[in-house]
Amino acid sequence: ESVIDISEMRKRYRGGVEALRGVSLAVPKGGIFGLLGPNGAGKSTMVKILLSIVRPSQCRGQMLGHKIGHKPTLARVGYLPEHARFPDYLKGGEVIRYVAGLGGVPKSLTHSRSQELLEMVGMQDWANRRMGSYSKGMKQRIGLAQALVNDPEIVFLDEPTDGVDPKGRMEMRSVLKTMKDQGRTVFINSHLLGELEMICDTVAIMDQGQIVRQGSIADLTEKS
Ligand code: ADP
Ligand code: ADP
Repeated sequence: ESVIDISEMRKRYRGGVEALRGVSLAVPKGGIFGLLGPNGAGKSTMVKILLSIVRPSQCRGQMLGHKIGHKPTLARVGYLPEHARFPDYLKGGEVIRYVAGLGGVPKSLTHSRSQELLEMVGMQDWANRRMGSYSKGMKQRIGLAQALVNDPEIVFLDEPTDGVDPKGRMEMRSVLKTMKDQGRTVFINSHLLGELEMICDTVAIMDQGQIVRQGSIADLTEKS
């Protein structure tokens, strides 16, 4: 069963850049999916189309059983954008409660939901410190928690380990495993094949707007 099935996805930006040149891709339900490839390959563009942030030039397919861009479907996905930044003066717990409020979590549940998420990402003891005092890895764990406020079926993480040190990456890796154990599909964009990416159950390699390979990490390392 696939949570995302796309075929012939194309995007030509105004100005002429062809970011996606006929992409076909199936993302299995549950587990961690890695879309790997160099900067400029088209990974962010693809995720932004799936989230209806960018309009495709052409796109066929479904996400969670609905046409791409279908609004009720978007309520069932979470997103940590590339280079996400939350105000330095906010406390970690405040960021989660704020995003939960925006995401329509009822006020009576905001506190318990944010506590639960802070514990899940191991930030409960830091919830009353300001974002500005956190390491990059801690900021990203708050970023992972805010992506889960709506209890999404699919969580999109765009270059989540950018600038995070090895210890921070290990901590993020354990959070991603928890997301997977909760039955979510985790979709990671990354330009590296590092320790975090090694936990992907399925990976696709994108280059110059096309998928050049798809399979398990083991398949891909064997054939190369
Ligand atoms: P669309 O064709 O989807 O309307 P646009 O070409 O209008 O997209 O660009 C959307 C925005 O992204 C613009 O504000 C543009 O300045 C900005 N942008 C342009 N080039 C790039 C780039 N290489 N990377 C990221 N953003 C860019
Ligand atoms: P990746 O996420 O793999 O780094 P992107 O999807 O960000 O790739 O970019 C793919 C190509 O599209 C690049 O050449 C990039 O410069 C270009 N691009 C991205 N966003 C825009 C935009 N808004 N307007 C014009 N060109 C863009």
